[in-house]
Parts: sequence; structure tokens; C-alpha cells
Amino acid sequence: MSPQQQHEITTLLVLIATSAAIGALFNKSLLFVTIVLFIYIIFMLGNVFKLHDWLLEQKSELPDAQGYWGEIFNELHLLERKKNKQQKLLSVALSRFKKAAEALPDGVVILSQQNEIEWVNPIASSLLGIAYPRDAGQKINNLIRHPNFQRYLSKEKFSKTITIPSPDNAENILTIQIIPFGYKQKMIFCRDVTHIHKLEEMRTNFVSNVSHEMRSPLTVLTGYLEMFSDNIPKDEKSFKLGLENMYQQAMRMQRLVTDLLALSKMETAPIEHAKQVDVATLLITLKENAEVLGQHKKQTITLDADEDVKLRGNVHELHSLFANLINNAVRYTQENGSIKISWKKQGNEAVFSVSDNGPGIAAKHIPHLTERFYRADIDRSRESGGTGLGLAIVKYAAERHDGRLVISSSLGEGSTFKCYFPEQRISA
Ligand code: ADP
Repeated sequence: MSPQQQHEITTLLVLIATSAAIGALFNKSLLFVTIVLFIYIIFMLGNVFKLHDWLLEQKSELPDAQGYWGEIFNELHLLERKKNKQQKLLSVALSRFKKAAEALPDGVVILSQQNEIEWVNPIASSLLGIAYPRDAGQKINNLIRHPNFQRYLSKEKFSKTITIPSPDNAENILTIQIIPFGYKQKMIFCRDVTHIHKLEEMRTNFVSNVSHEMRSPLTVLTGYLEMFSDNIPKDEKSFKLGLENMYQQAMRMQRLVTDLLALSKMETAPIEHAKQVDVATLLITLKENAEVLGQHKKQTITLDADEDVKLRGNVHELHSLFANLINNAVRYTQENGSIKISWKKQGNEAVFSVSDNGPGIAAKHIPHLTERFYRADIDRSRESGGTGLGLAIVKYAAERHDGRLVISSSLGEGSTFKCYFPEQRISA
């Protein structure tokens, strides 16, 4: 028993004894004790009412009371203050957590025990298409309906992540991880991995395209080799024809490997800025090579190059860029066709242009021409020794020199390929 409680009991006993003694003087002890106890009960009730009012109204001011009741009120007030302080600390911690979660580069959703949405950060809102706070209280499996997610959510263990299309836009790919916390609560972490997914898809496509491109020349080569190892043809003509075919297929593979190497070199080598390339002189050599390449076609090739316009960059990459465009024009343009090559300044930019009056390209193919292994006309490409990588190399080399490739063409009228280089790449 606390000293205050002992004091209160002592006071009550003293009151009873005193009232009994005074009552005895009038021979009415019981009446006096009853009156005193009645007053005591009224006093107690008054304080109980005060306490009730205080609790109901949640006033910060303490009710006025003396003695033991004063102590009780005081204790309650201290408790109340402690609770307020803890609440403040909790709300500061909560708002700090929300701010941190809002700044996260990943989406975060907090779920209740029943998998209802409690809180969502802005990234998760946009990735998962959850409108917060409107969707607060909604079951998460009503909003993310992908079967893989539904299965994942119903599991007990969440050590693995899953990958699903975004419920908001199926073209975006998300990884999702659930982290259990507190008492059966869950936190969902989601991240946009569309870019990585696309790269992975490109890599797989690339490997399968390269294998496909390699397979046909290899089939021809092994076919002839098997045939010759069984029985070398007596007839010199068919032997020569076989060798010729083998040579052509080997050359095709060599071109493919050369182009693949050129692409991979550009992907890994740092970009050069310092070296000055004499484009006009380079183009004279490339024009001569083109004339040799297309000599049987009797095409007219003209070159108009401004010697004063020089470019800063990598000579091998620029050689590859210009050669691919010029050689394509020669390869795809018919006999007696004409090809115009030019290099000059246009406004602040330097422009390299190759136009031909060849077969042209249908508009639907133009946006895809710079994709690896894309061909508008597969037969013509193969027949003229194409690898399907030429324009991919051109685009890559142009971008590495801060340039852009613009293709304009219409079927039956010819094509123009232009590369624009910005002022900072031009050196006088
Ligand atoms: P390829 O090795 O097949 O020529 P490219 O990447 O150099 O590959 O070109 C892609 C496709 O663009 C070619 O297959 C061809 O269909 C088309 N093409 C490129 N240049 C020309 C051109 N000057 N005239 C017509 N079609 C062209």
C-alpha cells in the first residue's frame, strides 16, 4: 500500500472515530457516523465525476482536487503527457519513413494483414497504376490480377522476386518482391526493368540472328567438303564451280565477322574527339573503291566534297560509315544508274550525303533499316553480299560522332542517306 493510500485510510478512520465521539456526546453516534460517511461518499462521487468529465473531454487542464484525488489526477496527467510525447515521436518517425520511401527509386506498397493497401509511394502508384489515397483499403489482388502475382501473394515465403507486366501498361516489365514485416503485414517492392528486359531480348535475338546467318554458308561449305571427300569430281568445271561457291560462302562469313567486330569495337572503345579527319581525301579513295566495286554496272558516280570541312573523330569509324553508305548505293542501284556523293557545310552543320536513283525503299521499312540484320529486300541483299549490319554500323558510328542519320526514299525513285554532324565536331 502506498503512503497516500495509508494516509487516505487513516483520514477516513479519524473522521469516523471523531464523528462517533461527538455523536456519543448527544447519544447519537450512529447518526453522526452515517452523516460523515454520506459527506465522504458525496466528496468521492464529486471527484469521480470530475475524472469522468476530464477523460471524456480530453482537456489538458487538470481538474482541481485535493489530497489523494489530486495525486490521482496528477498521475493521470503525467501518463497523458507521456502518451502525447510518444505519439509525437511516432508521427515524426512515420513521416520520416514516408519521406524516405517517397524518395526511393523503387515503388513501395504497404499492405495490412488482410492484404489491403495502406500506403503507396508515388513510384508504385505510377508503376502499378494504383491511385493513392483513392485505392487505400482495396485488396491488392483486385488491382494486380496477374496469375503469377496472385500465386506469389498466397505463398508463405517470399525470398524470390517475380517478373510481371505492369497492370497499368503491359509493355512495361516489373520485378516484384514482397517483404513481410510487423505482425503479418507486407511491403511490396517493385522496380521497372523494361530496359534490362529489352536488352536481354535484343541479346537473345542477336545471338539467334548471328547463328542463323552463319548456318547457311556453313551448310554450303560442309556440303561441298563432304562431297569432295567422298569423291572429287573428275569434271574440272563442276570442281571449279564447287570451289567458287565455297569461296563465296567463306567470304560471306568473313564479311559477317568483320562487321560484327566493327560493331563490337564501337560498343567498347571510348569515343574519340581530338583527331582531325580529312573527309574530302577519304571520300576520293572511297569513290575509287566504289567504281571498282560497281565496274560491271557502268554507273555514274560523282563526288562533290568541300576540302575545307574537316571532322574531328575516329578515321576508321568514319571510313566504315561513309563506305557502307556508298557501297550500298552501288550494290542496290541498277546498271547505268547514277550515284551522287557530297560533303559540305549546311548552316552550322556538316552534311555527308549519298543519293542514288536505284530501286528505293518502301516507307514501312525505313524506320527499321538501322536494326541489326534488318533487310528490306532479303534476296537482293544476299545476292549482293550484304550482311544486314551495314546501316546498323552507320547509325552507331554517326551517333558516336554526335551525328544523326536521315533516310529518305521512295519506291522506284531512289534513296538519299544523309549524315548531319554538329558544329562542335567540325574543324577548319
Ligand atoms: P545489307 O547488308 O543487307 O545491305 P544494310 O544494313 O546495309 O544491310 O541495309 C539494310 C537494308 O536497307 C538492305 O538490306 C536494303 O534492303 C536496304 N538498303 C540500304 N541501302 C539501300 C539503297 N541505297 N537502295 C535501296 N535499298 C537500300
